[in-house]
Amino acid sequence: MMLRTCRVLYSQAGPSAGGWQPLSFDGAAFHLKGTGELTRALLVLRLCAWPPLVTHGLVLQAWSQRLLGSRLSGALLRASVYGQFVAGETAEEVRGCVQQLQTLGLRPLLAVPTEEEPDSAVKTGEAWYEGNLSAMLRCVDLSRGLLETPGTTGNILMQLKVTALTSSRLCKELTSWVRRPGAPSELSPERLAEAMDSGRGFQVPCLNAEQNQHLQSSLRRLQQVVQHARAQHVRLLVDAEYTSLNPALSLLVAALAVRWNSPREGGPWVWNTYQAYLKDTYEQLRRDAEAADRSGLAFGVKLVRGAYLDKERKVALLQGAKDPTQPDYEATRQSYSRCLELMLTHVSQRGPLCHLMVASHNEETVCQATKRMWELGIPLDGPVCFGQLLGMCDHVSLALGQAGYAVYKSIPYGSLEEVIPYLIRRAQENRSVLQGARRERELLSQELWRRLLGGA
Ligand SMILES: Cc1cc2nc3c(=O)[nH]c(=O)nc-3n(C[C@H](O)[C@H](O)[C@H](O)COP(=O)(O)OP(=O)(O)OC[C@H]3O[C@@H](n4cnc5c(N)ncnc54)[C@H](O)[C@@H]3O)c2cc1C
Repeated sequence: MMLRTCRVLYSQAGPSAGGWQPLSFDGAAFHLKGTGELTRALLVLRLCAWPPLVTHGLVLQAWSQRLLGSRLSGALLRASVYGQFVAGETAEEVRGCVQQLQTLGLRPLLAVPTEEEPDSAVKTGEAWYEGNLSAMLRCVDLSRGLLETPGTTGNILMQLKVTALTSSRLCKELTSWVRRPGAPSELSPERLAEAMDSGRGFQVPCLNAEQNQHLQSSLRRLQQVVQHARAQHVRLLVDAEYTSLNPALSLLVAALAVRWNSPREGGPWVWNTYQAYLKDTYEQLRRDAEAADRSGLAFGVKLVRGAYLDKERKVALLQGAKDPTQPDYEATRQSYSRCLELMLTHVSQRGPLCHLMVASHNEETVCQATKRMWELGIPLDGPVCFGQLLGMCDHVSLALGQAGYAVYKSIPYGSLEEVIPYLIRRAQENRSVLQGARRERELLSQELWRRLLGGA
């Protein structure tokens, strides 16, 4: 019904009826995929819609290893969940997966799956962050190497999780200072940018010696990744996390933006992520977009609904604090829609100085974005692109890609041991999306029946 409405709207609106192509998310684009792939997708999406599997995923994995042995259990995972949502372990496997996506008109958005464990001495030590730095630098090289036509730059994107390079404990501390009215002047984007650029000793008076030391190392790591990404023409999309960390993450992004999003650099090279499920996101986005405009900096935004709803609410309840999230799904929908409208208007006014990724699997959202792009005269393959997770909502990604839009699939890669805990946590955070993938499962089923019955 919604899609039908969308099509009617499209055909009535817009500056020139000739240029617009209505999108149809009816699974027709599945003809591009092999039967094996479709069958695996259907089985895995069915399995993931079963709540106990997601809730007890790690325990079940440990049991299956004990009962079947790690080889057989690993083979089963590779043929199912890992194969569906992960590109592979080696650079060669990632390349193979990406080449397949490219033939379908989709682009890679590589993500290094790192999970900090605040209670683990190993996964919070300086050596762990240094290891992650090396992984990020390799990811930049891999992203660059995956480019279809060497020489075409500007459209290589990669995800960056800041808490892989700096501890969430420090981010929490910074957040608590940033939120205070009289935050120290050292915690301004300009001062942090200066410190990153000079690499000289930098002390923030409100932090202790150990925290200052870790901040300095973190700034060096961030600067190193962005410097390398800039040299390789790879744009970095910084992930948004919890509200207890986000103000610190945004401060670090703002500091990086001072140096790397200046017009002479041809950026934006560092983008921030905005979560529409938070009550104050629209205002924050408006302020940041206007500030970037005033200071002449390029501005890059990944717009998402937000993945940590349950945890945000639980923490607010535990702390007796105000719930930062929207009261219900409809309020999040409206917030996303307003943020989207705001950003598309900015893009249409600022051109290539303002970039947007519409990171959503939601058909109505994608529909709204494509319609407004057409109305505002924003080119299909310009500063606005779309993002979906690998293995999810291929009927939306393929329809967009076939219509000529820039579509990125967020692609985790790494060994089974590294990626499965990450995938299970992601699945828990995106439980509602996996359970709501009913339409995708129906379309997959329809296509498989069609093939089985010998349809054209
Ligand atoms: C490329 C890419 C990058 C991403 N990067 C990030 C990131 O950096 N940080 C991050 O947090 N997430 C990120 N996500 C995940 C994203 O935030 C969403 O969780 C996910 O995409 C589902 O939203 P949707 O619009 O696709 O689907 P929909 O099914 O339309 O929306 C589901 C979302 O609606 C919201 N919602 C559901 N129920 C309620 C409720 N009762 N009240 C209020 N809100 C509700 C939640 O945000 C939920 O995730 C990313 C997703 C993609 C595709």
